[in-house]
Amino acid sequence: MVAENHQCLVMTIAGFDPSGGAGIIADLKTFLHFGCRPAAAITSLTFQNSTAVFGVIHETDQSLRAQVLPVIQEHKVAAVKLGMLPTAEIVAEVVSLIHEGYLPAPVIDPVLQSSSGYELAEACAIEALLRELIPLARLVTPNIPEAELLTGLRIEGEQGMRQAAQRLREMGAPAVLVKGGHLKRKSAPGFQQSSENPEEAIDLLDDQGEITAFREEWISAPAVRGTGCILSSGIAACLAQGLSLVESIRLAKGYVTETIRFAQDVSGGD
Ligand code: PLP
Repeated sequence: MVAENHQCLVMTIAGFDPSGGAGIIADLKTFLHFGCRPAAAITSLTFQNSTAVFGVIHETDQSLRAQVLPVIQEHKVAAVKLGMLPTAEIVAEVVSLIHEGYLPAPVIDPVLQSSSGYELAEACAIEALLRELIPLARLVTPNIPEAELLTGLRIEGEQGMRQAAQRLREMGAPAVLVKGGHLKRKSAPGFQQSSENPEEAIDLLDDQGEITAFREEWISAPAVRGTGCILSSGIAACLAQGLSLVESIRLAKGYVTETIRFAQDVSGGD
């Protein structure tokens, strides 16, 4: 029997980073922040710290299913966030779990590479993600390098972010949030900056053709890891509680900004 609980259960299916900077630990912290009950299934055990990824051991399709089924058979999962999906086998298993009605339409953070340059998804996993999983998403949240890799487009400014989002929608995604944090704000040609605040972090949502730009203060801080994990998990947690997509993104983005500001306060910033 599937138990009802007034606290929404949100599940992350993602990689485990023992240092806690990214992946499942960042996701679970975020679910708790937004008042949700966290659940997690590991796709890959990674070996890393803040400087580098030293290796990975991936789960199999069977071990992923074995993690997910007992949880979803006991509790209703209100929302799902997908992070690192390293192999085509893992992607296919997630697709099956969705088709079988076990998982709701997921928020997909397409984790392809670590900040230090380590490949976290095999080429055939990326192909499977594009072909089979992205059309089943509630939302896909690539950063600029991920959006470029997934679409083959070169993104130079806000217009480029729009084009990449549109391309991903043409590939089947119902909604796409392109995160602009990787754009070099001052040098990017065609990047429209607000005259009041020339240093903004801009994310662009294309929800079935309706465009919303989210602008937040750009905070100069040493690279904070896991911001993509936190954003997508925050969105999933808010969607689980019945908030709209735009409101969920707004709240999750505010929390990412708080997290970066806290990291700046702790380190003293640049
Ligand atoms: N490791 C895992 C398990 C992740 O899920 C991610 C990103 O989502 C990363 C590493 C990459 O994080 P970073 O970009 O901070 O290196």
